[in-house]
Amino acid sequence: QALAQQGKELVVATDTAFVPFEFKQNGKYTGFDIDLWDAVAKKANLNYRFQPMDFNGIIPGLQTRNLDAALAGITIRDDRKQVIDFSDPYYESGLAILVNTDNSAIKTAADLEGKTVAVKIGTATVDFMQRSVPTAKLKLFPNIDNAFLELATGRVDAVVHDTPNVQYYAQTGGKDRVKVTGAVKSGDFYGIGFPKNSELVPVVNQALKDIRADGTYDKIYQKWFGKQP
Ligand code: GLN
Repeated sequence: QALAQQGKELVVATDTAFVPFEFKQNGKYTGFDIDLWDAVAKKANLNYRFQPMDFNGIIPGLQTRNLDAALAGITIRDDRKQVIDFSDPYYESGLAILVNTDNSAIKTAADLEGKTVAVKIGTATVDFMQRSVPTAKLKLFPNIDNAFLELATGRVDAVVHDTPNVQYYAQTGGKDRVKVTGAVKSGDFYGIGFPKNSELVPVVNQALKDIRADGTYDKIYQKWFGKQP
């Protein structure tokens, strides 16, 4: 395949902290997105290096073409499709509420009215909260780890963020301290992001099909989520 990108080292952005999709472990980045891209790149014969960055910088970086691709659990949305391209969906997601274990008052989005809620800058959650829970006071963080810290110290009532992320955190780093009380949104899909009209899109979509067909996708899914999709 005569692809201009082949041979070139692609710059592939990931989020700095988004368990279990991309996160640092023993000084190295690991996670579902990291393994997924690695498998895609092998199939499509692509050279790349990862560039971890705050989520907020990723879509602008694709727009200016400083990045060749990005995996950061990026929710496919029509407004984003105006400015970047997406691969086919690769993971179904949603948004959920995380509170301290001793909090029994917050269970649904309506319970967040008037409350102080930590969210991550530039994410779909910010739009969701502004639209659906307009009286909530939002505290914005570039990195979700700081939002989790804010919850631990009691400076916010809740964190709202992507369901698989808060679920994983509640079972690992936040175990016994925090719990997921409710889903507030479902039916979102993650896609790999690209600059508009990138010739990588059809190549990556084919590789995604191939790794679904040969069982690689299921293996990676099981490694991080412990069950079949
Ligand atoms: N899914 C969220 C969004 O696209 C972001 C997830 C993340 O924090 N990396 O807005």
